[in-house]
Amino acid sequence: MTDLSSPSVVPPSGPRREIVRVRHELKRRTLRVVRTHSLSPRMLRVTLAGPDLAGFTSLGFDDHVKLFFPATDGNEVARDYTPRRFDPQALELDIDFALHQAGPATAWALQAQAGQEIVVGGPRGSFVVPPDFDWHLLAGDETALPAMGRRLSELPEGARAFVFAEVDGPQDRITLESRAAVEVRWLYRGETGPDGLADAVRGFTPPPGDGHGWGACEAAAARGLREAVAALGLPKAQMRVSAYWKRGAVAFHEEQAG
Ligand SMILES: Cc1cc2nc3c(=O)[nH]c(=O)nc-3n(C[C@H](O)[C@H](O)[C@H](O)COP(=O)(O)OP(=O)(O)OC[C@H]3O[C@@H](n4cnc5c(N)ncnc54)[C@H](O)[C@@H]3O)c2cc1C
Repeated sequence: MTDLSSPSVVPPSGPRREIVRVRHELKRRTLRVVRTHSLSPRMLRVTLAGPDLAGFTSLGFDDHVKLFFPATDGNEVARDYTPRRFDPQALELDIDFALHQAGPATAWALQAQAGQEIVVGGPRGSFVVPPDFDWHLLAGDETALPAMGRRLSELPEGARAFVFAEVDGPQDRITLESRAAVEVRWLYRGETGPDGLADAVRGFTPPPGDGHGWGACEAAAARGLREAVAALGLPKAQMRVSAYWKRGAVAFHEEQAG
């Protein structure tokens, strides 16, 4: 089984710790659902497959693909999702859906059954963060768990990662596998308040050395999280905190470094 952790994610000739943006040819692929698997009551893994996945390239753990869903007016709507795992032999792609109350993506995931078709576009580009920083901070809510889980699965032995993951409660914890030394702190909404992620990062004392900070969550929480990550003293180029959704808005995405 191969996942997206191929060593080729590190630019072979680039200087150490250079963060690289890579563009990909934009392709639309028609795939089929092969199976679904519940990771937690709020997280559903949908495995897609099909010959169109030949040549699929995703070099960055926070890449995204666009999934196209039928809208009620007969048109199409697109939502962004993380390619959680790609198997180039089986031509399979896992997408992990954080289930919430309403929205075409959530509705589609909840009814997904083997054999159904879905159109997937991208990824259009990758942001490749080398794995050899002295430490890695990953902070986010359920929508960030696929990217954080993928990053942990790709980090090599010897790497150090500190994870802050915000979910509703203990039932929403998922297994995060890694060869790296990982410390995970689960934050439960209701116990921590609206700025739980930012508060946790503010209380984090990074180890010595050169680190990289990454985060993604709801837009209002992302503002505080960005400030908290910046306050660790990381250069702008070594941090990236994104809004993966916005309360009350559909299909929202905002990226920002420092
Ligand atoms: C780069 C990127 C990668 C992403 N990767 C993933 C991923 O791998 N897995 C994943 O689950 N999500 C991921 N997301 C987030 C996902 O795209 C959004 O949550 C999206 O809005 C869901 O679409 P929807 O059709 O279900 O809801 P929408 O139609 O977009 O929204 C309907 C309503 O639900 C609210 N809403 C949207 N998302 C959530 C949520 N998570 N919790 C509570 N309320 C919500 C909105 O504010 C709105 O009021 C990613 C986003 C980005 C930008």
